[in-house]
Amino acid sequence: MRATVMYRAGDVRIETVPDARIIEPTDAVVAVSRACICGSDLWPYRGMEEIPDSGRRMGHEAIGFVEAVGNDVRTMKAGDLVIMPFAYSDGSCTFCHEGLQTSCVQGGFFGIAGMNGAQAEALRVPLADGTLFVLAVGQDDALMPSLLTLSDVMGTGHHAAVTAKVGPGKKVAIVGDGAVGLCGVIAAKRLGAEQIIILGRHADRIALAKEFGATNIVSERGDEAVERVRQLTGGYGVHSVLECVGLEQSMLTAISIARPGGAVGRVGVPQDETMPGSQPAFYNNITVGGGPAPVRAYIQELLPDILEGRIEPGKVFDRVVGLDDVPDGYRAMDQRESIKVMVEP
Ligand SMILES: [Zn+2]
Repeated sequence: MRATVMYRAGDVRIETVPDARIIEPTDAVVAVSRACICGSDLWPYRGMEEIPDSGRRMGHEAIGFVEAVGNDVRTMKAGDLVIMPFAYSDGSCTFCHEGLQTSCVQGGFFGIAGMNGAQAEALRVPLADGTLFVLAVGQDDALMPSLLTLSDVMGTGHHAAVTAKVGPGKKVAIVGDGAVGLCGVIAAKRLGAEQIIILGRHADRIALAKEFGATNIVSERGDEAVERVRQLTGGYGVHSVLECVGLEQSMLTAISIARPGGAVGRVGVPQDETMPGSQPAFYNNITVGGGPAPVRAYIQELLPDILEGRIEPGKVFDRVVGLDDVPDGYRAMDQRESIKVMVEP
């Protein structure tokens, strides 16, 4: 079968690899119907050290059909349509029961550290019963892009909103206008936010943010962005900030635009060891939360809104490629030609 392998920064190849197969009795093999390239895939694309022989198998978001299951898999069978969250989890440990599947004691992540990836014709899914979400619907091409976002970006935007304590009547700001930030706009609106300010500057992303419910756009950066958000919020800043980038400057901006007593929900993978803004966060009593989103826990909650057409997060996909054009998809996202690329293997 064919799969996406990254060997070093900028070097993404489509290669023939051994077919995905059942190894553990709790495994399933999923034939990938749709996958995508993630903003977080751009970090290794820009900076990964060479992995000479094996490279790194890429991709952690997928929707597909179960092709085979191990002897201990109980909740699905070949032919079922499933959503594959970016993390695998057993569904039975203390953290899974608490709805934090990304801390599962047996869990891990796809497309990293030797685990196979979803930008491929198929992949092996460990702990299938706990990991995969079986959809009762058949394949509906119009719904597939939005259902695919439940594997990561929509659940991650929702997690940012939840950990930033978004609720009815709240003033909210979103730092980052990538697919996760845009899904954060959807999540904030869905949770009842009164004002939704997005910090971003790309025309295509801004247009989508407005369509999703953003009430204000701030295109300034740094101190000027902070000043502008204060102007828009009666001088105090917002109750809730969704940090969807992960850089030092974006985190500092996030803390600086939170009002006293406010909260920042971080879902951008931090690129630094230390967290900026420690002193303003302290003196303003700002709660800083967030982390890898337990998207498996959120599928049940978000799915009805997609199936009934109340939200359409699949609009973040503005380019569709076959497997052969995945390397060009990375290039397009890296150069901001594309918000998010969907892969149809
Ligand atoms: Zn678990």
